[in-house]
Order: sequence, then structure tokens, then C-alpha cells
Amino acid sequence: MSSSVNGAVNGAISFWYAHDGLPSVREPLAGDTSADVVIVGGGYTGLWTAYYLKKAVPFLRITVLEQKFCGYGASGRNGGWLYNGIAGRDRYAKLHGHEAAVRLQRAMNDTVDEVVRAAAEEGIDADIHKGGVLEVARTPAQLARLKEFHAHELSYGEKDRELYGARETAERIRVADAVGSTWTPHGARLHPVKLVKGLAAAVEALGVTVHELTPVTEIRPKHAVTPYGTVRAPYVLRCTEGFTAGLKGQRRTWLPMNSSMIATEPLSPEQWESVGWAGLETLGDMAHAYMYAQRTADGRIALGGRGCRTASARAPTTTAARSPRPSRPCGRSSSGSSRRWPGCASTTPGRASWAYRATGARPSPWTGRRGSAGRAATSARAWPPPTSPRARSAISSNWTPDRACRPN
Ligand SMILES: Cc1cc2nc3c(=O)[nH]c(=O)nc-3n(C[C@H](O)[C@H](O)[C@H](O)COP(=O)(O)OP(=O)(O)OC[C@H]3O[C@@H](n4cnc5c(N)ncnc54)[C@H](O)[C@@H]3O)c2cc1C
Repeated sequence: MSSSVNGAVNGAISFWYAHDGLPSVREPLAGDTSADVVIVGGGYTGLWTAYYLKKAVPFLRITVLEQKFCGYGASGRNGGWLYNGIAGRDRYAKLHGHEAAVRLQRAMNDTVDEVVRAAAEEGIDADIHKGGVLEVARTPAQLARLKEFHAHELSYGEKDRELYGARETAERIRVADAVGSTWTPHGARLHPVKLVKGLAAAVEALGVTVHELTPVTEIRPKHAVTPYGTVRAPYVLRCTEGFTAGLKGQRRTWLPMNSSMIATEPLSPEQWESVGWAGLETLGDMAHAYMYAQRTADGRIALGGRGCRTASARAPTTTAARSPRPSRPCGRSSSGSSRRWPGCASTTPGRASWAYRATGARPSPWTGRRGSAGRAATSARAWPPPTSPRARSAISSNWTPDRACRPN
């Protein structure tokens, strides 16, 4: 397998960006201003919020402030599973009752369809295919967990979930040693970067103002403070996920976790013939340290896994060369509740053609600290220069393109 896609190499922002191309950059904030709502962070959380707010109340003046470019974080680096899993569902049921949790689960099921619908309505071609989610057991212990997990999901109203034995599993996909699997229709595979790029464009087309290259250094009531000016708004929404600890006063608010992915070269038709996977389900397994995979639109297998704390806020520089010690895996709990997606990731380059760093605990442009000289650091590649003089000066005064592509 080769070690590059489109001339990019391990450690760049993500396989998906290398595959689809890095974005051209929107103008940074030009000075003090005001809005009805200011959203800090241009990932899925910030952009979907802007999208539905603007749809609901078209006259709202909404501003999105993004430190780099939309989709720079986990939204441009993830496994592309669009699915109905809920982190903390059992706790929610304890707090609000089982029926409320069942309603929440139904809403999550509907959300999968809603994303598919909204993407179609906005003309976003994100390689979406709703083939459901298949989770496979490969050992007797995994099979016991699988059955428990399956029953647990049924108890939250998933009547359309199915349990398969070894033969039925192999009819869908031939995973070595598979002894059984569980499948839900409430899942789709997608290309994360195509979705986030399309969403940012859709939000802008609706009339939302999006400023990139605009790091918010502090959020105060009704104020989002940046080096280029302050946006005043009655509502300031923090949508900064794994980067939250970098905001003034938020160091202990959010514990970044990491996860790593690799992608193969496109498989040949003969290889696909032997693997199966014609239904394009997203694929997981029942190991304690979770695994997630998808068959991409161009015939690769993109898979990721692990999941542990990144370096603590006291030691924010996490790199491939200085990778964090794994702590407890944060996959499926023993009660069978769904996986929790970590917000941040670092790369452990694998043997497949691509290994990429998803979000780092704190990217060096943000902290001002340079990543250590590992494989990722040496393989950083230039990010397309911004178009306007103002944007160019924002880049040159804050970080170089080289540093911009060095997530940690
Ligand atoms: C390797 C990996 C695989 C994953 N796979 C899946 C999956 O298959 N399915 C799934 O559902 N979830 C998955 N996840 C999780 C999912 O990607 C995230 O939960 C989701 O993208 C978070 O979106 P977000 O908008 O909240 O955060 P982000 O995408 O991180 O967006 C936050 C944005 O805020 C910006 N920002 C941060 N701080 C500031 C600041 N101070 N000022 C201005 N801007 C700022 C960042 O640059 C970033 O663009 C995965 C995560 C990882 C890391």
C-alpha cells in the first residue's frame, strides 16, 4: 500500500480533506460587531445549530466564529457513522424515566433520516448511504456482550433491530471468526468532510455570517472576544467540543479524548467479492476497545478505534511521537450502552495507506506550542493560502500554513 493520497501524507489534517480537497478560507472578523446569536465553532454542532435556528427564525442575525476553517475539528476527521447511538442513555433514563429515554431514542432514530433529508434538500452530496449499522462478535465473550447489547437496545424500543448468527453475518460481510452480529437500520455511512463543507455553504446561503481564521479567546456573558474584535450578542453558544479547554476559564470543563483512524487503498473488485459488504453498513465489533469502520464510496475501508484520554490540560501537547498512554478504553459499557465518540484524536500511524490525526487535544496554533518532531510534524503540508490580504495577514501573524496543518 502506498503512503499517500493526492500527494498528502500521514499527519495532515485528515484523509477526508486530502481526498476532497482543503477549503478556501472565509474572511476573518473585521472588528467589533453585534449579532442576535453568536456561535463559537464551525463543526457539526455549531453549523447545524446555525442551520436550524436560521430556518426557524429567518430574520435572526447569526454569526459563526471559527478559529481555523469549518470542519477543522472532529467534524472533518471522523468515521462517517451517522447513527442513532446516545451517550449516557441509561443515566438519562434514571433521571427522567424509561419512557422519556425511549422517546429520546426515537428522536435519535429520526435524526438519522433528518440528516439524510436535509443533505438532499441542500444538494449536499456527502456519499450518504443508509445501510444501517452492523456490529459483529468474534469470540464467545463478545457474543455474550452482543446479545446483552441487542436486548438492551430492544428495551429502548428498537423493534426493527435484528440478531444474526454466523451464517447470516457472513452473508452481509465476511469478518474473520465472526460468530454473530446485530444490525439496526438506523445508520448511514457518509463522507464527513463533504457533509461539513456542504453544511457550511448551506448555512452561508441562508444568510448566516461565517468568519474563519477567527479564534475566540474568551466567552463572557453576551460577548465572544477575539483578537480582531468582540461580537456582542444576547446569546453566545459554545460549540468548541474537544478544544474547549483552550478557552479562558474552561480548562477543566471538557476532557478531550482521542481516537485514531486509517484508510486502505481502494480494494479491487475481486477483493470486494471475497469480503462482501454489499449493503455498505457501518461496521463495529464487540471488543472492549471499540472499532468503527465504513466502506467508502471509492471502495476503501476506513476504520478507527481505541479511545483514551489525551494528555491532560497540564500537558496539552499530544503527538504521534509523544502519544498518550492508553487509559481505560471508553467503548461500550458493560451494560451494553452505545459507544461514546471521543471528541479528539491523535494518530498512531498504521500499516494501511493512511493514518491521520483527528483533532488534537490542543492544536499548536491554538496553544502556541509546536508539536514535537514526530512523523506527523515532519509531514505537515501547506494549506491553501487565503484569498484576501486581510486573511493572509491573519495567517502570517498567527501561524504559518505549515503549523496550521500540524494538529498538535
Ligand atoms: C477519529 C474520530 C472518529 C469519530 N467518528 C465518529 C462517527 O463515525 N460518528 C459520529 O457520530 N461521531 C464520530 N466522532 C465524533 C464526532 O466527530 C464529533 O462528536 C463531532 O464532529 C463534534 O462536532 P463539534 O462541532 O461539536 O466539534 P468539532 O468538530 O471539534 O468542531 C469544533 C470547532 O470549533 C472550533 N473551535 C474550537 N475552539 C475555538 C475557538 N476558541 N474559537 C473559534 N473556533 C474554535 C474548532 O476549530 C472546530 O472547527 C468521531 C470523532 C473522532 C475524533
